[in-house]
Amino acid sequence: MRSIWETRHFHRPPDLVVVGAGIVGLFTALFYKRANPHHHVVVLERGPFPSGASVKNAGFACFGSPSELLADQAKEGTDAMLARVENRWKGLLELRAELGDAAIGFEPTGGHEIYGAHDPLYTYVAERFDALNATLRPIFGTSVFEWDDAAVARFGLSSGHRLVKTDLEGPLDSGALMLSLLRKVQSAGVMFRPNSSVASVEDLPRGVEVRLEGGELLRAANVVLCTNGYTGQLFPDLPVIPARGQVLKTAPIPGLKLRGTFHYDEGFYYFRDHEGGVLLGGGRNLDLTGETTWEEATTEAIQGALEDLLRTVILQDQPFQVVQRWSGIMGMGPSKSPIVERRSERVVVAVRLGGMGVALGIRVARQAAQLIS
Ligand SMILES: Cc1cc2nc3c(=O)[nH]c(=O)nc-3n(C[C@H](O)[C@H](O)[C@H](O)COP(=O)(O)OP(=O)(O)OC[C@H]3O[C@@H](n4cnc5c(N)ncnc54)[C@H](O)[C@@H]3O)c2cc1C
Repeated sequence: MRSIWETRHFHRPPDLVVVGAGIVGLFTALFYKRANPHHHVVVLERGPFPSGASVKNAGFACFGSPSELLADQAKEGTDAMLARVENRWKGLLELRAELGDAAIGFEPTGGHEIYGAHDPLYTYVAERFDALNATLRPIFGTSVFEWDDAAVARFGLSSGHRLVKTDLEGPLDSGALMLSLLRKVQSAGVMFRPNSSVASVEDLPRGVEVRLEGGELLRAANVVLCTNGYTGQLFPDLPVIPARGQVLKTAPIPGLKLRGTFHYDEGFYYFRDHEGGVLLGGGRNLDLTGETTWEEATTEAIQGALEDLLRTVILQDQPFQVVQRWSGIMGMGPSKSPIVERRSERVVVAVRLGGMGVALGIRVARQAAQLIS
């Protein structure tokens, strides 16, 4: 029993449905709407707000630490590694230009990687360091990484570590980013529908049928699926595996010296300062099978390992109190590259952002919006 007003304005068949209001889904809706101002665009989001990795992450605006880039180069070759770094770097610049540094809380305090001085990883990186900088020079126009061992003491980290820094990375506020993006998307005329969990998407001759949990059916001209780590719940055949990441945050620590973003142990751990305390995540490698899950939860084993790292490397003897713990679900797979492709004539998927969505999200979205247009 709908009125003509409801039918015409709220239940008008969408020209585009975007499933998932993460950084990729919201930017996809924004770019499509800008290119097609008269089209009706609807974003369907399962949670009451955006509720995926985009609001659970650590807020590193980063393009890759030396050990990560060397591992990528060894596995996929120099060209593939360079293409991804360039994409991430340009993505960060585009994100900052689109939303503004103040709105996303970007702090230009630098990105860092630390290594145990006797860790074979340190030797591996040190031996290839100059060559890596030379390989990256065409992208950044400068030697992007430099050694800064003195910073280990300056940041209050335990001695016996070596440190590499880049001035081009830094932390941001993922919540502020997503809120300002959501506002921008809504003021562009996109309809945001929270609490709308999609149960199925079928590309049929009469349109794409999007069925919500609870039975409501929307018939859209086109659909872009931006469900990242949850994609397997709708399209189990796509190579996207859920990968849980756990995080903790401490209360403010008097005199905390840590500033910027930090990677440790081949990137398996990452930490940063946040409002005078430490935000620390990682440890998936301790239980890769258990962490291949859609369940948002934390485990004692991994939270314990994070606390050990606080004690031994980051804060040493300084007392700390953990005030919040959470987890988020990433989308990973056999390749580190996102999937942006047409699944059928009127359905595009833009998923599998791994641990790089802050940087890559805007570019993946631009590609998806162009593909569906
Ligand atoms: C703990 C953690 C730390 C991270 N740290 C960083 C970092 O520091 N820097 C970085 O670059 N990246 C980081 N990442 C990765 C980054 O957060 C992701 O790559 C990025 O947020 C992915 O964005 P997305 O829009 O593709 O997916 P998401 O943000 O996950 O969005 C998908 C959305 O789809 C919705 N959804 C799913 N299924 C349905 C359905 N059936 N119906 C309706 N809606 C649905 C979800 O609720 C969700 O809101 C981290 C991730 C985690 C988990």
